[in-house]
Amino acid sequence: MLFKDVIGHSKTKQHLINEVKADRVSHAQMLLGPPGIGKLPLAIAFAQYLLCDNPSAKDSCGICPNCQKMQSLTHPDLHFVYPVVVSKTDKIASSDDARTEWNKLLTSRPYFDLNGWMEYIGFEGKNPIIGVEESRAILKKLSLKSFSGKYKIMIVWLPEKMNSQAANKLLKILEEPPTKTLFFLVCDSSEEILPTIISRCQIIRIPQLSPDEISAYLEDKHKLDKSLAQTFANLSQGNLVNAINTAQGDEAHNAYFDLFVKLMRAAYAANPNELMDVSDEIAALDKEKQKNFVLYGLHIFRESLIKNYLNGELLNLREEEERFLDKFARFINNQNITELMTSFNDAYYHIERNANAKILFSDLVISLTKLIRKGV
Ligand SMILES: [Zn+2]
Repeated sequence: MLFKDVIGHSKTKQHLINEVKADRVSHAQMLLGPPGIGKLPLAIAFAQYLLCDNPSAKDSCGICPNCQKMQSLTHPDLHFVYPVVVSKTDKIASSDDARTEWNKLLTSRPYFDLNGWMEYIGFEGKNPIIGVEESRAILKKLSLKSFSGKYKIMIVWLPEKMNSQAANKLLKILEEPPTKTLFFLVCDSSEEILPTIISRCQIIRIPQLSPDEISAYLEDKHKLDKSLAQTFANLSQGNLVNAINTAQGDEAHNAYFDLFVKLMRAAYAANPNELMDVSDEIAALDKEKQKNFVLYGLHIFRESLIKNYLNGELLNLREEEERFLDKFARFINNQNITELMTSFNDAYYHIERNANAKILFSDLVISLTKLIRKGV
């Protein structure tokens, strides 16, 4: 992973690069900060920078043999320790037993939290740990010779999940650090970590991401409309993983899509029962979701126009949305677009000012039946 692929954190990146340039890379560093902000990708990018044959002033080269192995996470000098659910039936005793899944997840979507990792390996709801078997595995890895002739790097993700046996073993190792070996401890919280371990580490505090950084990521990677991306970013409180979950989650985007389709079908059919059902359904959402739904509607109207008038270039849609717009977009045109946008913008304005949601959305669906017909 290159530094440029890690969102935000420009000051931290510069600090890490300066450490390398000044040749004072500490053997144990703790990247400490709230969850969901990309501390793990940052640690991996730093590891790659340290192993790269031709690093520039800003980043790894990305093409040397060491970089290539780092990018597939198969570099023999890169070691990971992370929580797993120890399971005899699944033959999982330590990190390496789940390494294939770990590499797959990290290379396909590097931003995840402990829940995301557990879900990915089918252990949601279970209690993952870094156990004593892990410390044996660490000692074994430390006995290996460096492959690249440079550092051996051990990234410990969430050391707060170490049980006491594992923590004591790690402490011993950090007290007598093996030569040319670096430990990056990636922690959400230092509270559950032995103070003696913390005192052995150089602490690097990683701040939250800004709403703009999160919003730009959602626009780029999740193809969200700017206004929707900004809404999700503002809701996420600096936690990119939460923002991604909101953007992907059933409760959000998909649910908005289903609801929007239902609303438009009812409006087109001018079926009073269906219209009242869907209006009630929207009114039952909490206020933030009502606002997101309205923003989502505006997004679909805009995309419909783009589809009609720009031959579909620049579309910002997911697959199911594109299929829907194949039929729906023609109903959105210069006969009704201004009024549609106005009615949705007004709805947003009134939700913000705590209007009665039931009345507001029943008015909205009634005007929609007329407006959609205007576009036919
Ligand atoms: Zn390189």
